Amino acid sequence: MLLKSKLPDVGTTIFTVMSQLAAQHHAINLSQGFPDYECSPELINLVSKYMNAGHNQYAPMAGLISLRERIAEKQQLLHKTGYNPDTEITITAGGTQAIFTALACVIQAGDEVIIFDPAYDCYAPTVTLLGGMVKTIELSPPTYRINWQEVKEAISSRTRMIIVNSPNNPTGITLNEADIQELINITDNTNILILSDEVYEHLIYDGAKHLSVSRYPELKERSFITASFGKLLHTTGWKVGYCLAPEWLMSEFRKVHQFLVFSVNTPVQYAIADFLKDPQNYLELRNFFQVKKNIFSNLLRDTRFDLLPCYGSYFQSVQYSRISDEKDTDLARRLTVEFGVASIPVSAFYSKGTDHHVLRFCFAKKQETLEKAVVRLTKV
Ligand code: GLN
Repeated sequence: MLLKSKLPDVGTTIFTVMSQLAAQHHAINLSQGFPDYECSPELINLVSKYMNAGHNQYAPMAGLISLRERIAEKQQLLHKTGYNPDTEITITAGGTQAIFTALACVIQAGDEVIIFDPAYDCYAPTVTLLGGMVKTIELSPPTYRINWQEVKEAISSRTRMIIVNSPNNPTGITLNEADIQELINITDNTNILILSDEVYEHLIYDGAKHLSVSRYPELKERSFITASFGKLLHTTGWKVGYCLAPEWLMSEFRKVHQFLVFSVNTPVQYAIADFLKDPQNYLELRNFFQVKKNIFSNLLRDTRFDLLPCYGSYFQSVQYSRISDEKDTDLARRLTVEFGVASIPVSAFYSKGTDHHVLRFCFAKKQETLEKAVVRLTKV
């Protein structure tokens, strides 16, 4: 039988490829972003409590209202901005589903979507799957700054959306006030929507600030914001996240959401709603990860890898011109197989495969894991 692939140029996601390679070679896995330590025992107890109490059937389609209320409070506390839990917040099966749904509910065949490469790997294929056209703007190390003139030139009458991701995966770069002002100017008086992927919102370092688009009324009114409890609670395997959007966009989002997943894991939602009653549970994340970032970057200084700036996310990128001129995919493979440390080659985040000889390491790991990994990396 014949099947015309809807994504002929897409293979298996690099996260799966590198994690599998790491497992196969018993390497320390600093590739796919996930913690190797446990979440709070209190959270586990809460999930069992709600399972034992019989909360094991469908949750409401948009998510438990108590959880949506906690999210609204968090947004108010952090960004002084109001989202109506009834109409403007939806619980999703992780950040990726939130991103897919936000795109699926607005992108029509032929619509153009502006994406900044290196970009998280689900954006472009999702746009393609929906019949949209990806317009890529490439950013380069070490600063990965956006040239907004280039963005202006990329905009056409068909531009439907701009996707921003700050703190950025993989670069660790954050949007600053000047970037936000450009975004406001560029979208003012247009029909351009924004998808702001803010899953690393709490992972911000060295005095940098997370400028959520929700802080700016001109952007908030046209934006979907996607977020992830996996990053917030060290529970990437629970696959629970959420989306924030003004009601006119959220009503479209829910039309798709209800047929994509209908609703999300009930006892976990109850548990998270309880856990978030204490804001300290997320406010302390910044220090928790700053310590890990400092440990990892200090250790890496003993290697021949050159650190790139990192203001947010739990990823540290490095350049390796002092080590080799091989392709980043080749070096990532070799480091895994020969040295026992897995990373992500950043060319995987460029739709054209642009290779700036950069590798991404995840530092959401126990101190001993980071130490062990760097001992191996010093031999490279
Ligand atoms: N967000 C994680 C990362 O960047 C991976 C998520 C996934 O594997 N889908 O590594």
